[in-house]
Amino acid sequence: MTRRITDAELEDKPVTEQELAEWERLAEVATPGPWVANELRERLAGRIVIASVSGGKDSAAMSLHLTELGVEHRRVFCDTGWEHPKTYEYLRGELTAKLGPIDEIRGDLLLPDLVRKKGMFPSRTRRFCTQELKVFPLQRYVRAVQDETGDVVNAVGIRAGESLSRSKMPEWEWSDGFDCDVWRPLIRWTLEDVIAIHHRHGLRPNPLYLMGASRVGCWPCIHARKSEVRLVADVDPARIDAIRELEREVTAKAEARHAAKGETFESLGFNRPTFFQAPGALRSEGKDGRCVPIDEVVTWSRTGSGGRQFELFAPETEPGCMRWGLCETDEADDFIEETLAHPDEELTP
Ligand code: SF4
Repeated sequence: MTRRITDAELEDKPVTEQELAEWERLAEVATPGPWVANELRERLAGRIVIASVSGGKDSAAMSLHLTELGVEHRRVFCDTGWEHPKTYEYLRGELTAKLGPIDEIRGDLLLPDLVRKKGMFPSRTRRFCTQELKVFPLQRYVRAVQDETGDVVNAVGIRAGESLSRSKMPEWEWSDGFDCDVWRPLIRWTLEDVIAIHHRHGLRPNPLYLMGASRVGCWPCIHARKSEVRLVADVDPARIDAIRELEREVTAKAEARHAAKGETFESLGFNRPTFFQAPGALRSEGKDGRCVPIDEVVTWSRTGSGGRQFELFAPETEPGCMRWGLCETDEADDFIEETLAHPDEELTP
């Protein structure tokens, strides 16, 4: 059974009483950010700060923090064409009103068309979504700003407290790929700090959080957690329909490719392509786990929790990392660095 949460419901009951009380409490304990220390002022002198904004709470907090510090910055959002409509609404409405203009950049194709063109879905080994929808457009944007103004710093809103891998990241790091310093101004921030700065500036969080999402980004990401798949299915059955249709189209294309060589999925021993792929997890349970059709995934997402199937599609490492402020998975970090190091390498077969 699926049910859409209406705008009216969101307006009427944006958070539970308990959540609201917690937000109020945190607003009380919030402390104003310090003014730019001399060291930071010197470090940023004559450089343009580009802040990656995703529509999520941490990047919004980072932009607000930079404003409190008196650091002028440009905000940029990588549009995959696969975000929830509420993210676009929030980004172009409330977030822009609070942060200032946000540049939107995109690759040549948005995610659904990219999948159609390639005739395949991205996966952990063929992460062309990150590459073509985020890395390359941001790289082009950074270069354009460098050509226009000179030295650039890319600010990303990640926090050490979010995962073990992030806890090891420095506040400042050079990126060869982007040819600029990466700055993580929130690296020592807590979730409480993030909520508090939203309060200080009267900025409500992206409505997706209030609907139960733990991350904001592709809706859904190919590495979605079980609870995230269930949320998409519950509140946005049209997106599930879109995935089912994409699976149908990509399967038909692959079938035609195989038929042209006198082959079939069966003769080749291939799975029919699906949006979610789970190499390893299901297979280790004795099932064919490489490709799982969307309707099966939705059914599974509504089963009881527990067992190794719980994080079936999520990377085995802890998810949620945004080393470069791009995809919210730890695996993305290595992938993005690899892509930047070898931009001309063909990553898809
Ligand atoms: S968020 Fe997920 S689906 Fe979107 S570009 Fe990144 S890895 Fe791909």
